[in-house]
Amino acid sequence: MDLQHVESDLDLDQTLFTEDQIIGRLQEIAREVEADYEGRDLLLVGVLKGAVMVMADLARSFDRHVEMDWMAVSSYGSGTTSSGVVRILKDLDADISGRHVLIVEDIIDTGLTLSWLVTNLRSRGPASVEIATLLRKPDALQMEVDVKYVGFDIPNAFVVGYGLDYAERYRNLRSIGTLAPHVYS
Ligand code: 5GP
Repeated sequence: MDLQHVESDLDLDQTLFTEDQIIGRLQEIAREVEADYEGRDLLLVGVLKGAVMVMADLARSFDRHVEMDWMAVSSYGSGTTSSGVVRILKDLDADISGRHVLIVEDIIDTGLTLSWLVTNLRSRGPASVEIATLLRKPDALQMEVDVKYVGFDIPNAFVVGYGLDYAERYRNLRSIGTLAPHVYS
């Protein structure tokens, strides 16, 4: 859906990125990844559910074969803060030992969930584990884990659309926007 289909157009404060901007940036990232992984096999691991749109458009931007697999994790936390303690809801189908893995994320905030995921995947003996994220918030810069590919650095606001939800809404919005405070206050 487009912005005009959001029931109350007061729900979204501001469009941060249009669909064209997002897809254009993912195509640039795909060219970088292709150069970095030339001659090597590549397994993209998407983190459900938020990364579904990023995965779909990134994977289709490649001019080479890539494999896709999925994980679903839930973070134990109090309210909206993530604690870094994670439970696997759906594990990978693939055995990643000896393989080059690129985790595909929608957004990194504190990075706690992702740090846990990287440690978990590295324990399975892959050839490499790197991270690509469409969006990165300022707190993620404190992370110990290196994020190799970043679409856009954004300010500390709550964003929705393009896979990102608020209470399971807005995931199918084509663009990314900030949520008006009255929606969640
Ligand atoms: P972290 O462990 O990096 O703090 O949490 C990352 C997860 O929190 C993301 O995968 C996403 O599910 C959620 N998250 C963080 N910031 C936002 C945001 O601005 N909007 C939405 N919709 N989810 C967010």
